[in-house]
Amino acid sequence: MGRTCKGICLRYKAEPAPNRIRYEIGQKRCTFCGIFLDVDDSRCMCCKAVLRTKARGKPKKFI
Ligand SMILES: [Zn+2]
Ligand SMILES: [Zn+2]
Repeated sequence: MGRTCKGICLRYKAEPAPNRIRYEIGQKRCTFCGIFLDVDDSRCMCCKAVLRTKARGKPKKFI
């Protein structure tokens, strides 16, 4: 049941856009496949990983 990129995600690959606005225009990133997708689903139809829908804020610093 391991995650596998089957290349299906490439069919839903999002249009090129500046990274900072990608989430604002509804694009979601599959961290497993490593690309942005233009889909309504919350999971990647390719590898079933949960898609990232929000840009992360400032990185937390653990000192
Ligand atoms: Zn994939
Ligand atoms: Zn994926």
